[in-house]
Amino acid sequence: MKNVIHSIDNQACPKCNATLGPVETTPIGRQIQRCSNGSWDRTTRQVNGCTYARWSYPQPEKLDEECPKCGEPLVLVSTRKGSKLKRCSTAGWDRATKTVTGCDYVEWVK
Ligand SMILES: [Zn+2]
Ligand SMILES: [Zn+2]
Repeated sequence: MKNVIHSIDNQACPKCNATLGPVETTPIGRQIQRCSNGSWDRTTRQVNGCTYARWSYPQPEKLDEECPKCGEPLVLVSTRKGSKLKRCSTAGWDRATKTVTGCDYVEWVK
């Protein structure tokens, strides 16, 4: 079973090689991790020091259920509006062609 977890903790800043600060969650559910060499100055509204920041979306939660279409595991994802849906873990989005790749199974959770 391939279970790839991308940990975003304990990584070095690609700009200045300092450690990255703690992961903060914004009100809309996105996560940001700033370089520990940078700090936000409220007075000047600018970042002092290193400006590196990494944005990420929370990883979808893997479910113990199989996709009825292809048998791959389903994942639980939350939309920005707060509703939840199950989709196939093989599903993806091709930015170049703007089409869904992989399996297109989707089940809305009430
Ligand atoms: Zn940095
Ligand atoms: Zn599927």
